[in-house]
Amino acid sequence: MNIILLGPPGAGKGTQARHLVEKRGMVQLSTGDMLRDARTSGTEMGKIVADVMDRGELVTDEIVIGLIREKLETTSANGFIFDGFPRTLGQADALGELLAEEGQELGAAIAMEVDDEALVERITARSTCASCGEVYNDKTKPIPADGKCSNCGSTEFKRRADDNEESLKTRLMEYYKKTSPLIGYYYAKGKLSTVDGLADIAKVQASIAKIVDEA
Ligand code: AMP
Repeated sequence: MNIILLGPPGAGKGTQARHLVEKRGMVQLSTGDMLRDARTSGTEMGKIVADVMDRGELVTDEIVIGLIREKLETTSANGFIFDGFPRTLGQADALGELLAEEGQELGAAIAMEVDDEALVERITARSTCASCGEVYNDKTKPIPADGKCSNCGSTEFKRRADDNEESLKTRLMEYYKKTSPLIGYYYAKGKLSTVDGLADIAKVQASIAKIVDEA
């Protein structure tokens, strides 16, 4: 079963993807994580995308499709979760072709609906565990008082360079201009399901589990 998590920045795609990895042994393919890894390891591609990412713009289809192609060709999995990919119609078409080449199908594209005010609040207060990726929020879920991640015990936390109000405006605009048309695209393909991304995490998990089970 392969699924896409669709939604604006801060909708909770990464959190839900990690849950599916833990519970179902699916493999999370996050192009955002892949691009951040490329930056950290200082590859040529990492250098090319750094400024674009910090501004909150999308990197080229060619780069992200290449990343996904490589993963699909080299990874065997009990289902992939596409997290933050596709983000354009070109990427969506390419994903359909790549899956077909691998003899695979898309089960569902799950749109996580969240209103914009909530996104801005979530993102500007967000930090994550550097080790396991557990997400914290300064107001609603602060880092535990003992300074240790409640999931893995690590004491290192980080904030994303693009989690600031300025980049977020661009990221939201990119989402509405280039990514939101994918909701209609997958609806027309009969693959779209929606969940309320503002419900509490366990409810969102349950809604997604039901969609995955029925897809
Ligand atoms: P994310 O972690 O998914 O929020 O992605 C962080 C940044 O990486 C985005 O703001 C883009 O600059 C870039 N990025 C990630 N995935 C894609 C994609 N599928 N297409 C284009 N750019 C992407």
